[in-house]
Amino acid sequence: MADAEQPTKLQVANARPEDSGRGIAHLPRAIMASLGLTDGDVIEISGKKVTPARAVGPYDEDEGLALIRIDGLQRANAGVGSGDFVEVRRAESKPATRVVFAPAQQNLRLQGSTNALKRTFIGRPFAQGDVVATAGHQRVQNMPPGMQQFVNAPAYALQEIRLLVVSATPKGIVHVDENTEIELRPEYEEPDAARRADVTYDDIGGMAGTIDQLREMVELPLRYPELFQRLGVDPPKGLLLYGPPGTGKTRLARAVANESDAQFYLINGPEIMGSAYGESEGRLRQVFEEAAKNAPSIVFIDEIDSIAPKRGQVSGEAEKRVVAQLLTLMDGLEARANLVVIAATNRPEAIDEALRRPGRFDREIVVGVPDERGRREILGIHTRGMPLGDKVDLGELARTTFGFVGADLAALTREAAIEAVRRIMPQLNLEERTIPPEVLDMLAVTREDFLGALKR
Ligand code: ADP
Repeated sequence: MADAEQPTKLQVANARPEDSGRGIAHLPRAIMASLGLTDGDVIEISGKKVTPARAVGPYDEDEGLALIRIDGLQRANAGVGSGDFVEVRRAESKPATRVVFAPAQQNLRLQGSTNALKRTFIGRPFAQGDVVATAGHQRVQNMPPGMQQFVNAPAYALQEIRLLVVSATPKGIVHVDENTEIELRPEYEEPDAARRADVTYDDIGGMAGTIDQLREMVELPLRYPELFQRLGVDPPKGLLLYGPPGTGKTRLARAVANESDAQFYLINGPEIMGSAYGESEGRLRQVFEEAAKNAPSIVFIDEIDSIAPKRGQVSGEAEKRVVAQLLTLMDGLEARANLVVIAATNRPEAIDEALRRPGRFDREIVVGVPDERGRREILGIHTRGMPLGDKVDLGELARTTFGFVGADLAALTREAAIEAVRRIMPQLNLEERTIPPEVLDMLAVTREDFLGALKR
């Protein structure tokens, strides 16, 4: 154990979706041994920032590789992306006397007792500034021995919730125990972290290939501009995502921005076209200006077909001016601006060809309707943190939801959760969005709830 205090370098890779939000890190057995670690011991992972985790052994296929597999939240908390190197050392976690949490997601108001929250987090190490998830996934397979106590806690809510650790006492790495005093602030607080953890690659199902393509075309150039300059290659300025509504294009663009440490600017096509004379162009210029100032940035234009329909077709004066403005802005972008424009449409044939010339939107990625395996993954993501009844079979659900896109599957899980609430508490007022955690403790979403939701 002489070198147990020495840090070890490992390369970051993504954890499996079902391991997301559990606060564990998979690393090689040999490294664990050299650091004097056994399953469940606390480590400190240092990238641009430092975050703790509980160490467990590697996935079977990784045996012998110098990899550390962590989830999207942990990558955000450590300030790294997949492929980066981190230092890992053994660490100690102290019982927290007091922890203050706040929602790390916008548009979410929390209220209620913190007892269930406490049980969700018991034993999980974190530090001030980390974003943590309320994963109460009771149906985790291949659970490493000794880990049950950390992950078997009941979910705090029916859906996974991300919380920012606003403060934790004592300083450093802590974990919650029975005596920890917990304060839950009701309103969103912006993490001061460089990377936001609201959406990561872990939150997108059935798109491993697409994510790989985007990483190569967008994430790498944004994160390593020097590399591309050295190679004399100009990274793409614009890329088009094709696919039906609800397949996750917006979510994907947001995840790429977060994982690339880039700012994200969303332009909604129909919305921007709705503005008064001259305003649409002004708004476009403004967004591009701001994005360039705060680069690295991703500008995402949703439903670009409404801004840039084929000229000469239905388009009126307003569209022509806006397209012209968009083209000017794209052409004016320096190759090294560290700004990528991603546009989405479900009608590729309807867009002005001028947009697809080299130097503009010259890359295309198809985002299709998910297959059975994709649906299974998406269902896994949206039931993360959901207390599920024993008979719930996500594989069966994936088989019977042919044609469903991600948005449909998300709606299905939400509807099933509401069925469960309806079943238990007919008198509950769902509008208020606040359900006492004590009630949630007893609640599980059953197979019948899903079947009921499917019928709606
Ligand atoms: P699009 O931009 O293609 O219309 P969105 O990204 O807006 O679709 O998706 C809407 C919602 O549907 C997302 O917020 C998410 O809840 C869900 N969703 C869609 N696709 C996926 C996916 N592949 N994995 C997980 N969730 C998805």
